[in-house]
Amino acid sequence: MDSKRLRIAMQKSGRLSQDSQALLKSCGLKINLREDRLIAHVENMPIDILRVRDDDIPGLVMDGVVDLGVVGENVLEETMLERARLEMPVDYKVLQRLDYGGCRLSLAVPQEQVWEGVASLNGKRIATTYPNLLTRYLAEQGVKFKPVLLTGSVEVAPRAGLADGICDLVSSGATLEANGLKEVEIIYQSKAVLIQSCNALDANKQQIIDTLMPRLQGMLQARE
Ligand code: ATP
Ligand code: ZN
Repeated sequence: MDSKRLRIAMQKSGRLSQDSQALLKSCGLKINLREDRLIAHVENMPIDILRVRDDDIPGLVMDGVVDLGVVGENVLEETMLERARLEMPVDYKVLQRLDYGGCRLSLAVPQEQVWEGVASLNGKRIATTYPNLLTRYLAEQGVKFKPVLLTGSVEVAPRAGLADGICDLVSSGATLEANGLKEVEIIYQSKAVLIQSCNALDANKQQIIDTLMPRLQGMLQARE
């Protein structure tokens, strides 16, 4: 990979990829996307797009492997807490909060359960992909729980007898309902953000960012 080219990490395929690609295109980038490729070259600017799993993006930025990244704040914050716990570097700058990827991280319990506040989760098993965000939230309320770590199918855990409740991303709530769950508490509100590594940038890369940012902000303002 050419180190003179600005490197931007974004989700390869998933809920953020279409909107992220569209945003970069609307800023004038001509992206040559071949579905199977990890790296996509921008034809009209010295930029490479790295297409990875969203979970890897904060780490790539914090380790300075890429210059910029687009990721959900939920994944960013969870990674930051996890890395802080492991005493790994956690530096990054938020360049711009974006207007897509909106979702919330919520607690949900079986529909038939009477909800009497988070204290009722004391000592209970909660399935989640976000153990650090959940621990921070419940610790603030003095609640101790048993984390059940799942990277997928979190919402089936209670019915499967693996957990008493879940903490998962919600947008419409239909998935929860289909699994006999009800949302009882929002613990984190998220949107996509553009972040930058804290590495010193050479003048060429900085100039590309200085060109892109006003375009990006103009685009976001126009569709407000
Ligand atoms: P990957 O294969 O890249 O790891 P993934 O399955 O972890 O993908 P997606 O489901 O594509 O991730 O979600 C990516 C991000 O999109 C989430 O982390 C979140 O920031 C955002 N998002 C927006 N709405 C939702 C939703 N309803 N459910 C889940 N994520 C959502
Ligand atoms: Zn992911």
